[in-house]
Amino acid sequence: MATLTFDSLNPATGEVVGTHPKQDATAVRETVGRAEEAAAWWAALGPAGRRRRLLDYKAVLAGRLRELAALVHEETGKPVGDAALELVLTITHLDWAARNADKVLRRRRVRTGMIGVNLEATLEYLPLGVVGVIGPWNYPVFTPMGSIAYALAAGNAVVFKPSELTPGVGVRLAELFAESVPERPVFQAVTGLAETGAALAADPRVKKIAFTGSTATAKRVMAACAENLTPIVAECGGKDAFIVDADADVRAAADACLWGALSNAGQTCVGVERVYVVDAVYEPFMRELSERVASVKAGQDYGPITMPGQLDIIKRHIDDAVKSGRTVAGGPGSVRAPYVDPVIVEDVPEDSPAVREETFGPTITVRRTRDAQEALELANASTYGLAGTVFSRNTRRAMELARLMRSGMTAINSVISFAGVPSLPFGGVGDSGFGRIHGADGLREFARPKAIARQRFALPGMNLTSFTRRPEELERLIRIVTFLHGRRKR
Ligand code: NAD
Repeated sequence: MATLTFDSLNPATGEVVGTHPKQDATAVRETVGRAEEAAAWWAALGPAGRRRRLLDYKAVLAGRLRELAALVHEETGKPVGDAALELVLTITHLDWAARNADKVLRRRRVRTGMIGVNLEATLEYLPLGVVGVIGPWNYPVFTPMGSIAYALAAGNAVVFKPSELTPGVGVRLAELFAESVPERPVFQAVTGLAETGAALAADPRVKKIAFTGSTATAKRVMAACAENLTPIVAECGGKDAFIVDADADVRAAADACLWGALSNAGQTCVGVERVYVVDAVYEPFMRELSERVASVKAGQDYGPITMPGQLDIIKRHIDDAVKSGRTVAGGPGSVRAPYVDPVIVEDVPEDSPAVREETFGPTITVRRTRDAQEALELANASTYGLAGTVFSRNTRRAMELARLMRSGMTAINSVISFAGVPSLPFGGVGDSGFGRIHGADGLREFARPKAIARQRFALPGMNLTSFTRRPEELERLIRIVTFLHGRRKR
């Protein structure tokens, strides 16, 4: 008989943190059914009612911050402080989404243009209904809540399938929501393995899937969604580049680079994986990096590798990198399950797995480049395009490099700073996915634009959309349009 439950384990100790049901397609269907009813109620509450309840939920999460951080620590192995930081960011986003949803989505009048002078045109963004959220384990609060908070604020009900590695966190987030919204199951969690997520993606009553996870799984989810033409947001992996320009503050750059690469044991979708340093500052930057990395330790500054299977990928990338590159810190011996000590390898060929594939571990490759232009070209020569970093003292140059970087987000003279700005959209291009969470774009992602044109009065002598239209009426229109639009400007 199939096992009906599964355990979530503490990756540092192997101890069981919790036991959860493997919810099958029937259970998922029932949950979506309840969510459909709840969605209608939640939508009818209106923006003010939702805002009040979401701000209350925010207060509940803030009140339980330490308890939740402890649970995130147990299920992922990350230090409690990092888990607390994740919650702080989540609370900031929830607050922004709750406060800004009405302003971004409410009905507004838009210009009608010359042909529509007799019309009143309005645009508003209406809820979709039930949104299915499928989440990863690396930031089990911040990442899914980037979809959940914005979907709820836009007036949808949510069914959340947390990662099988962090189900306890997902269930707790939904339980706590019920403290603020006890009336209807507006936010529910379903637990299980891939099959549970697949059942959610296949349900035609789910009006959008917000998926965060690997690119390979995103393709499977998208294929399932294609059956019902269910739209998806795909927040996938990355291979983010870190560019150090000739005029950069190398101490600050090395410090930020290490944190961006090693925090959360490198298991960050927007973590630093490839470093490109302009020749002029290569030596001082590498000196700083080597000195600083000596004091960063796995198991002390960051936790274990959460998903045991990832250790093999990390090991393969390190083995391959050291074959042709020069080791600056660590090496194959740095992998001591479940921990991986920092690994820095320079001059790794650009076509090797360590440079091309997402490693998702505390490792970086570093390469010397002629100038910032070459660094940018190498940074952009990736199938991924999630985020990246530029260090330069010249604001104009840094802005230019950031804009030319083929990624959804770029941080200048800091790492990952964009994630803490709720009004900035978050998402990738290429293999990193599509669609946006966070900010106004993130709210609109979970809504459907509704366009209405109301005729205020009939235009005399201009009844164009009628079989009674006379040739001279069309002729008049053609003359006006030719006059207004027919002149070429060079
Ligand atoms: P994963 O793809 O293995 O799993 C993600 C989720 O999908 C899990 O809940 C899993 O149960 C579910 N799933 C698996 N197969 C499924 C199927 N066939 N149908 C429906 N659901 C299915 O990813 P992961 O290992 O949990 O997360 C790590 C990945 O997530 C990394 O690649 C990382 O870069 C990426 N990530 C991206 C972002 C972002 O915002 N872009 C944020 C965090 C993590």
